[in-house]
Amino acid sequence: MREDVAGDVPPPPTPLSRGEGERSGCGTPPSGQLLQVRGLTKHFLITGGPAGVRTIGQVRAVEDVSFGVAAGETLALVGESGCGKSTTGRMLLRLTEPTSGSVQFAGEDLLALSHRALQRRRRQMQIVSQDPYASLSPRQAVEDIVAEPLDVYRLYASRAARRERVVELLRLVGLDASHLRRRPFEFSGGQRQRIAIARAIAPEPRMIVADEPVSALDVSIRSQVVNLMQDLQERLGVAYLFISHDLAVVRHIAHRIAVMYLGRLVELAECDALFDAPHHPYTQALLSAVPAPDPERKRTRIILRGDVPSPARVPSGCHFHPRCPIAQQICRESIPPLRQQPDGRSVACHFATAFPIPV
Ligand code: SF4
Repeated sequence: MREDVAGDVPPPPTPLSRGEGERSGCGTPPSGQLLQVRGLTKHFLITGGPAGVRTIGQVRAVEDVSFGVAAGETLALVGESGCGKSTTGRMLLRLTEPTSGSVQFAGEDLLALSHRALQRRRRQMQIVSQDPYASLSPRQAVEDIVAEPLDVYRLYASRAARRERVVELLRLVGLDASHLRRRPFEFSGGQRQRIAIARAIAPEPRMIVADEPVSALDVSIRSQVVNLMQDLQERLGVAYLFISHDLAVVRHIAHRIAVMYLGRLVELAECDALFDAPHHPYTQALLSAVPAPDPERKRTRIILRGDVPSPARVPSGCHFHPRCPIAQQICRESIPPLRQQPDGRSVACHFATAFPIPV
């Protein structure tokens, strides 16, 4: 990692940056549904046999996932590595084709769109991926990288207007015109992610799928990029599906949080409600590992037994039952549906309210 040509925290032209911990994403989520996902499922076939073409099994990467995202909202999708978060995000953009389910975006069924119509729709739905080193072409100058969506959707009238728009976008992410002709290798990880974000907001999307956008960055730089994303949301009204395994980061940016375990959503709640009183035993275990901001309120660490099972051999009934400290016979036999609770959250557990574990 190169640290760095112009410093990782270039002085922004407008008051974009805030100090770490100055604000939290937890709060009332905006209303007005933009994205509606229903029963989204992805099974990858495992092939084998002498010719390598016989189906010998399937990986149940994502199973019957449903959620909505409001305009201007940040919904965080959290869970351990391999739980299906990224596959879910990719299916929203049809970068991975779902096995079944539906994705409505701004009232339009994305899974029914032709390739050409989908290309047009993708202008409103962009992606920022985890690795700022792999996601930017090393041969292109920053100007051309950021202008890529402008070129694809022909969003300028002249070369001068193109450059003017790129400079405007660079300023929005805390870079400037002096960076236009530089190449990605000249920047640090944080700056590269700023460039990737500038490219993502270039076509003025209504939603961005941010797939672990800060997990490859140094800890000291993560909050700067998260603050930048929050500021851009306030200015542009863009919604985020923020995919992360880092609950501390998620707490800073999310309005609501959806927790995934082995391909299924197990709990979906507003950020404060989830952190204050997680209902699902898996959420309770995840949060028990996050230091409580209030030192008076010590959490008891919950250590789960065993490892996450392979998605090629998911357990019967509740996927979590082999590791759940309160599992009963019914948990081995019956899949708990994601049910709405009286406080508005949704939980997939037969005993979500019957056996709360104190944290
Ligand atoms: Fe645990 Fe049963 Fe709830 Fe699954 S359904 S989380 S096994 S109590």
